[in-house]
Amino acid sequence: MTVKLPIYMDYHATTPMDPRVLKTMLPYFNDSFGNAASRTHSFGWTADAAVEKSRETIAEFIGAKSGKEIVFTSGATESDNLAIKGAAEYYQSRGKHIITTVIEHKAIHDSCKRLAKQGFDITYLPVGENGVLDPEVLRAAITDQTILVSVMLANNEVGAIQPIAEIGKITSEKKIVFHVDAVQGVGKTPFNVEEMNVDLASITAHKIYGPKGVGALYVRRSKPRIRLVAQMDGGGHERGNRSGTLNVPGIVGFAKACEIMHHEGAEENERILKLRNRLHAKITDALDETKLNGDEKKRLISNLNVSFAFVEGEALMMAIKDVAVSSGSACTSASLEPSYVLRAMGLDEDLAHSSIRFGLGRFTTEEEVDYVADLVIKKVKVLRDMSPLYEMFQEGIDIKSIEWAAH
Ligand code: PLP
Repeated sequence: MTVKLPIYMDYHATTPMDPRVLKTMLPYFNDSFGNAASRTHSFGWTADAAVEKSRETIAEFIGAKSGKEIVFTSGATESDNLAIKGAAEYYQSRGKHIITTVIEHKAIHDSCKRLAKQGFDITYLPVGENGVLDPEVLRAAITDQTILVSVMLANNEVGAIQPIAEIGKITSEKKIVFHVDAVQGVGKTPFNVEEMNVDLASITAHKIYGPKGVGALYVRRSKPRIRLVAQMDGGGHERGNRSGTLNVPGIVGFAKACEIMHHEGAEENERILKLRNRLHAKITDALDETKLNGDEKKRLISNLNVSFAFVEGEALMMAIKDVAVSSGSACTSASLEPSYVLRAMGLDEDLAHSSIRFGLGRFTTEEEVDYVADLVIKKVKVLRDMSPLYEMFQEGIDIKSIEWAAH
């Protein structure tokens, strides 16, 4: 069987929409186009009923007690902003200390940076070389001023799964609000807000085969009831937590995506895990000097992040242009910065620059995995053949010990 090019292996960035999701959404663009906030006629009632049903489906998916705990947003960036800034503002009279980790998404880091400018004190906890936070490190960082802890369920670069249940035990004992950015992990690793004592959780549809531009923030309503200061002023939608006309087709699609994951996730994850392991095995069997970034066991089934020593990730990406992956370098400035996540895990700059993130998903096939593995192996060999450093390494020269002349 021939594979169709290009091949998509960047499922952490976004996912294609499941055709069943699209089909569910379509009537809400035309036939049932009403504004869910229109209380005076059947167009509004139909839209509202669809939104309320969706709330229940999404709540069930994450183990929430009620659909009332779901606040719809434009995506996880907004959910993260609302959780961090909204909780900080509401609880600031109790203290101004917030704890998070060095590997969170920018939506968390930048929200914290803004709060720091307003006088909040932010602690960024380190993670181990495997990308996983030690809950005892978190416990030790808590002070009597700590009001909020934010830790992601799974990292978007290396797939490292964090000990959310253990952290939830600590934060609930200490009566500190606990936010989880569950974007990458939900549906792929166990996540249950009740069982894990999570107070706030961000999720987004486009990472689980739903549409882009729709997300949710779970806000606990009991034991304890969590309050937020809204960040968007307007009509007071979403119980005053987030004003703005709801994206009804998006919300209906989001719920359908959750429902599919809920029912088919277990089987699907097993299949993806096998494919991911197949890709990794093929690469490591054929190539020396590769490094798996992130914990081997506590990692997303869909994630493979590998450093190919002596190869520039960017060069490798250009060499495999028909395969969509991402590299450990971020084009955030004029120069290529190595990923802050990989650096936080102790990788040196060279290895961080040589990393590639493969993200597999629902529509990945075995043929695609084999094609990608063969292509990557071939191109890494070509690039290494051109590398004087690799040649020196093969001759047994310790590259790190070389003092390069500076002119
Ligand atoms: N948090 C994590 C961990 C993510 O991976 C992403 C998306 O890349 C986001 C938040 C932002 O989500 P959205 O694209 O819905 O704004």
